[in-house]
Amino acid sequence: MKLNFKAERMLGVVAHPDDAELLCAGTLARAKRDGAAIAICVMCKGDKGQPSEKLANLTATRRKEMAASADLLGAQLFLGGNCDGTLMDSAPERLKLIEIYRQFKPTLVLAHAPEDYHPDHRAASVLAEAASWFCASRGHKTRSAAMKSPPALWWMDTMDMNGFTPGFYVDIGEFLTLKTQMLACHQSQLQRGKDPDFSPLAELMRLQFRTRGMQAGVEAAEAFRAHLAFKRARAW
Ligand SMILES: [Zn+2]
Repeated sequence: MKLNFKAERMLGVVAHPDDAELLCAGTLARAKRDGAAIAICVMCKGDKGQPSEKLANLTATRRKEMAASADLLGAQLFLGGNCDGTLMDSAPERLKLIEIYRQFKPTLVLAHAPEDYHPDHRAASVLAEAASWFCASRGHKTRSAAMKSPPALWWMDTMDMNGFTPGFYVDIGEFLTLKTQMLACHQSQLQRGKDPDFSPLAELMRLQFRTRGMQAGVEAAEAFRAHLAFKRARAW
């Protein structure tokens, strides 16, 4: 079976500035190639991930890095503007994300898996799921009108694949250069590769897309699981 994303509007909802690169950039690139509209929503600013040589304005640096990466991909970029480590499911955060959904009108949302390692990832997961329901509910008022129907939702692989059972794989073999170039935009994070509390991201990403590719019989893949909930499940 070969998925074609031509008719989709695909939105990746992630916690931190470099999460989309690690977990779904290849799939977004493939959707873009098929003719889909694509966007990334980053919920946190990345303001607490300082490299060992501290940057004076880390938030501004990370915003520039995100914009450069989204430009390479040709994706629209939405920012949640939360401080790292503070993201939580709350009524105001839901409304903020509901409004972003209503502006972009995704048909398919890619969200962090509920079992991912980082509290911000898990909070983004809960919010992305809640917004996928309430975006089409007229009772939840935001500036833009309610969507006609909720988008489908796929859970993304976890960081380092821990505890995630893939439902299916997307072949991203054609987009490895782009995915790698996008990650390279995040120099402030790549500089943290030798920190004891961090990981060499490029190597981690390569191991992950090669492993998922090997499991699926292709050079490289990203793994997902469909969220089979009322009105979010879809026949492909
Ligand atoms: Zn993250």
